[in-house]
Amino acid sequence: MQGGMVECPLCKGFKKIGCPMCGGGGLMRTDVEPRSARCCNNCGGLGVCTCTVCFGEGVMPVVPF
Ligand SMILES: [Zn+2]
Ligand SMILES: [Zn+2]
Repeated sequence: MQGGMVECPLCKGFKKIGCPMCGGGGLMRTDVEPRSARCCNNCGGLGVCTCTVCFGEGVMPVVPF
């Protein structure tokens, strides 16, 4: 019998996390044009992206020692 699943420690079951590329703002500044911001191409401007720990499951398997 396996241990089962626990709530993801990173997203707390929310399944999404603040985008690390844009810091959750949904916009990215370019080095070429610092005054202009464009949609973050990691999250598509949403500011959140799928959790990288649980891959959007919200839970993850208990890791046995
Ligand atoms: Zn982003
Ligand atoms: Zn997660």
